[in-house]
Amino acid sequence: HRADNLAAVIGEHAMARPDSTAIVCGDDVTDYATMHRVSHQVAHALLAAGLERGDRIAYLGRDSARLYQLLIGCSIIGTVLVPINWRLTSAEVTHIITDADCEIVFLDSAAEELAANLPPAGWNLARLIRMDRDGIPGAAFTDWIAAQPDTPPAARTTQIDPLLQMYTSGTTGASKGVVIAQRSLFVVWDILHQQGFEWLQMADDDRCFVAIPGFHIAGLGWVVQGLIAGAPLFILPEFTPGRALDIIRSHSITVMCGVPVMLALILAEPGISRADFAGLRQIAYSGSPIPEDMLVECMTSFGCEFVQFYGMTETATPLTFLPPTDHKVGSPRLRSAGFPYPGCAMAVVDPAGNRLPPGEIGEIMAHGPAPMLGYWNRPEATADIISADGWIHTGDAGWIDQDGYVYICDRIKDMIIIGGENIYPAEVENAIVGHPAVREAAVVGVPDDRWGETVHAFVALVPGRTVTQRELVLFLRDKLASFKHPRHVEFVDYLPRNASGKILRRKLRERFWADRD
Ligand code: ATP
Ligand code: MG
Repeated sequence: HRADNLAAVIGEHAMARPDSTAIVCGDDVTDYATMHRVSHQVAHALLAAGLERGDRIAYLGRDSARLYQLLIGCSIIGTVLVPINWRLTSAEVTHIITDADCEIVFLDSAAEELAANLPPAGWNLARLIRMDRDGIPGAAFTDWIAAQPDTPPAARTTQIDPLLQMYTSGTTGASKGVVIAQRSLFVVWDILHQQGFEWLQMADDDRCFVAIPGFHIAGLGWVVQGLIAGAPLFILPEFTPGRALDIIRSHSITVMCGVPVMLALILAEPGISRADFAGLRQIAYSGSPIPEDMLVECMTSFGCEFVQFYGMTETATPLTFLPPTDHKVGSPRLRSAGFPYPGCAMAVVDPAGNRLPPGEIGEIMAHGPAPMLGYWNRPEATADIISADGWIHTGDAGWIDQDGYVYICDRIKDMIIIGGENIYPAEVENAIVGHPAVREAAVVGVPDDRWGETVHAFVALVPGRTVTQRELVLFLRDKLASFKHPRHVEFVDYLPRNASGKILRRKLRERFWADRD
């Protein structure tokens, strides 16, 4: 069906099948009629609180049906939802809430400690609404909406009004507020249907588990696609591999989406067997690179179809995808992020902006159907990343092959330059991880007077295994040119990652560059 407003689509489902399940989150089951009713109450409550079109509200809590009720409520009256990662530090959260100028903060007990530690100047405590139990500040959500009608308010919005302000993962620097219109959420659905790609999407008989949190566009986007389809969505208040496995086992999940590290964590759970995944039709993964060995292990152990997506918050929609037919062990395409998603075009350019021919490495550029409206309050940063004709600088280095498959080398910012040679950390990391004693590795460039930079590796070992720096470098000898070998190997227990499972190389680099830049 074609509808252009989230609330209208949910309304259709609520009419047709009021009792069918919309969202299952922990023990909490919400049907489509309730989604519809509460979203309208939210819209009225926001209006009653004096909010207008374009005003911002923050959601700072674990994933829940409430997040999506707030989103739909916002879509009705044109307010903008800012979902915030509740695991951030209070300084980071304060930065977002003040940067986004949020009028109301909806929070749950996950943010309790945060709320207590925040500088009062950052927040106006009168504007806190608590989503769950007593004991945290603010009025209760249920009281806040109780007196509100569930009828459509007079307010009207359009598809190009901003609906979301999502913050980037903060992998390469401070995270930026990305303003996204409602249209970006619908265009994915529309294009797939117009172009016969329905198979990429959920059907209303799918049971979809979205493991990616809703404060990332991929997680929120998947849930919205499922809601448009009228499917039951399964989400977790907080991801743990044990809970994820439990959902897959006990709810006959057919489609799952997660970031690569989640898949690896699930497979590391004790006592899993192929039977646990018998009902799974497809796993969609996105958000970070996936080492080829890990992907092959996932394909073997989960035994279902795989689809990879590549995208970024700024493009709002996926850019490329690698379909199930390209998930063949031994195929070079397994190392790619696939080909352009319907409605997208991809190119690779040199630093001067000239297009490069197939096979040559440069910056990956993307043209999507409904990119962000811009970074919030950062016109220069917006102009730097998106051109007048809508091409976005991804900040990723990579190349495109003759058939249009996109291969991502790494972040341009993380590139290490040694004596004029460019080294992409991912290549070195993947080679190191090939050693059986290594669980994970991260590589950064550290200052070197002679060469400009040298390679420094952080390596976490498989429990119970050992390897020395000398042995590791010997192992790399026939895999990597010697100038790419780590000059230093530092053994660590674990690597710092953010919520999208991305290794925070900038944290690892800090110590070496502190007195230089
Ligand atoms: P920041 O922009 O704040 O540094 P971030 O770029 O990690 O953080 P996101 O918008 O969440 O924030 O992530 C987009 C990036 O994630 C892409 O630019 C790319 O580097 C990486 N990425 C996403 N999907 C894939 C994929 N399938 N394979 C490899 N990398 C991916
Ligand atoms: Mg980015």
